[in-house]
This record gives sequence, C-alpha cells and structure tokens, in this order.
Amino acid sequence: MEKKKQMIRKYLLMAAATFLYMTGIAQVPQVLFDTFFEKKSLRIDFALSGNAEGQRAAIEQLREEPTWGGPLVNLVDHFHYGGYYVHIYDKTSGELIYSKGFNTLFEEWLTTDEAHTETQSWTNSISVPFPKRDIIFELSARNRDDMQFYPLLKMDISPESIFIDRGALKNNHITQLSYQGDSNQKVDLVFLAEGYRADEQEKFVRDARRFMEALFHTAPFSEHKADFNVWAVGVDSEDSGTDLSGKGIFKNTALNSGFYTFGIDRYLTTRDMKSIRDAVWNVPNDALFILINTDMYGGGGMYNFYACGTADNERTPVVFTHEFGHSFAGLADEYFSSEVAYNDFYNLKREPWEPNITTLVDFDTKWKDLVATGTPIPTPVDDSTYKDKCGVFEGGGYMAKGIYRPMDHCMMRDYAPFCPACSRAIERMIRYYCDEKY
Ligand SMILES: [Zn+2]
Repeated sequence: MEKKKQMIRKYLLMAAATFLYMTGIAQVPQVLFDTFFEKKSLRIDFALSGNAEGQRAAIEQLREEPTWGGPLVNLVDHFHYGGYYVHIYDKTSGELIYSKGFNTLFEEWLTTDEAHTETQSWTNSISVPFPKRDIIFELSARNRDDMQFYPLLKMDISPESIFIDRGALKNNHITQLSYQGDSNQKVDLVFLAEGYRADEQEKFVRDARRFMEALFHTAPFSEHKADFNVWAVGVDSEDSGTDLSGKGIFKNTALNSGFYTFGIDRYLTTRDMKSIRDAVWNVPNDALFILINTDMYGGGGMYNFYACGTADNERTPVVFTHEFGHSFAGLADEYFSSEVAYNDFYNLKREPWEPNITTLVDFDTKWKDLVATGTPIPTPVDDSTYKDKCGVFEGGGYMAKGIYRPMDHCMMRDYAPFCPACSRAIERMIRYYCDEKY
C-alpha cells in the first residue's frame, strides 16, 4: 500500500513537472535528479573494438569524480544526435533516468580503408550523474543502414561497488576565465592544454583567453556570453608541440595528440581519451576544447567528445569556432571538395542526424521552416536571387551530390558566418545545457 502511495505521489510530481515544462511557466523542479542522482559524476571508460564489419564494447574502468556540471532537469537527451547513446535506467523501476548521445573518433576510423584490413580497440569515456541507487547502464551504437540505435553493452552498476575508483588524480592548474553562475545552469567550456611545458602554462592561459574572446565575437555565441562558464585547465607536457608522424616527428606530450589522423596531414586529434578525462577529473566540463601548442594549421572535433585546434596559426580563431560547431552542437561539415579519409560517410538513402545537412529523405525534420516560401528545393547556387539566403544547396558532408546544405557559405563550409540552421542548432544546445526548454 505504501509503495502504491509512493508511486501515485511520484506520478503526480511528474505530471506537475511536465505541465510546468510544457507551459513554460517555470523550470521543472529537479525531482528526478534529487531522487536518483548526486551532484558528482560517474565516469565510465570503455573500449570500442572492431573493424569495417562491426564493433563491440567492453568496460575498462568506473570512477567517481567530484563535480557534475551538466543539467539537473534536461536529464533525457531528445536531440538524437551522434553515433552512440548512453541510457541509464533505474534498476528497480526500469525507468529511463538519463540519456545522452555522442560521437567517437573510433566510429570515423571504422569508415576508413584501414578498417577493412585491421581490427583495432580504442578507449572511450562518458560521464553521467552519479547514481544514488542501482542502475542499468546501456551503451548503444547507431546502425548506418537504418540509422537506429542498437545496444552494444548493458550492465548493472551499484553506487556502493568497491570496483568504482574514488581516488583523486594528478594535480592540474585550473584558471577560471569566465564565471557566470552555477555550472548546472551554464555551459561549462574547458580549454585543455596539450604540448605546453611547465614553463609555458602562462602562455596557455593567454592562448585560451584569446580563443574564448574569438568565440564570443562570433554570432550566435556573441549573444550568449552569459550562458558560458569558461575554464583553462593546464597539464604539463615534457615537450612543446605535437606529433607529426608523417614527418617522423614525435613529441612527449600529456595527451598524445598528433597530425596525420587517418593519414590526413591537417587532421589533428588524439585517441588518448583516458589522459584527456584524467586531466579534467575535477572540473565541470560540458564541452572540451584541446588547445595544442603549435603554429601549424589543423584541428578536429566530434560531437560530445572533444574538439582540438592549434594555438598559434593565424586561421585558428575560425578553425576553433568551426571545430567547436562539431563538438558542441553536432554540426556536420558543409564542405564537399576537401580530402578526407572516409568512404561513404553518409548513407544517402537515409536522413542524416546532423541538423545542418539533409539528403531530402526527411527534410521536414530539418530547416524547412527557415526557407522562404517560393524558394526552389534544391536551390540553384548560381542564381543571385538566393545569394546569402537560406535554401537547400546541393553539396555538403564531403559529397558533391545527394547531400544538401542550408546556405552556400557557412562557418561549417568555409569559415563564413554560421548559417541560420547552424545558428539555431547552437542556440538549442545552449538552452539544453542551461537547463531551459529546448
Ligand atoms: Zn551551416
């Protein structure tokens, strides 16, 4: 009987919360969060292994970490972005209590030539709010044929487990570049130092500040400075710079970054996710930007994974904003003429999940409402009537045919201002992290 009363109470609270949320009267009380979670993180490191034929997942380690900077209300992620999804269920009731989508560098590797001849295993990591009760953790991957998510790994986790590492990690140098309020209601953007020696940490903070300012001079971020807390997290590297494996140059750096990802000289990333997560273990981080101490041109960014760019190249401020578009808002590349290592990155028979490209299979779910009535679809790129207008222009997502972009030029194509579809997607993501209706 008591249990029934509890259930009725829970449903009344949820109904009230839903009503307030739908009507926009007030923030949903953080009923679910306080029932199920503490304001700490459960970090789950896992391996993804496989090749072009398929992939598998396996747990590597669990850690309790001291902060939770994510939302308290927007616990279930309704974006449906990314190649993977984590779902957390309350073990007793089976209720979905948290979810989040993300990409990995490993899934890009799966589309390269190498994945047809080799099998590899890469470490990945996600953080969820720390549970108060037993949970079921489920990791799913998106199938490219039907674009649906299918479970890769499912396991029970008890918050009391002795197999959760609760220890502190290495010291880092944390500088608050901008503090606008409680991390649960702000986007916490972390700049992370890579290839900076101990005597270069002051330069790192100056570099991070410069890129923060570049971001806040770019619309729509310029309208949302008050929605971001910005942190610079310094970790010392032995050497300055980064690897250039294609030229036989290898540096001893904290996060093991390098150019020549998948053989592409300007594609700068690191697959050392464990070192990245170790470096930010005590800082709220909704979005990670790895700042790499070199003057060369390059970068990379994956949704809810990380973005990286170089400190001293003259094009870096725009490269940073472009890569941040990938990692923060799930934006696709709108270019289609540059060299990439991927084969058939998009399935043209399906609608891609990214908000700024379409195959026209399900365009209604994209930016149709931003296209003026009478604009032809597809929109002719050589007709000056549609110059700088929102339309549906062929070419995008590394393909000249079959994929369409919202404007001829955009930050996600050639470092022009963000197009209306990208701007809207960025603002929606900001609202999600600020725990507003999105
Ligand atoms: Zn765009």
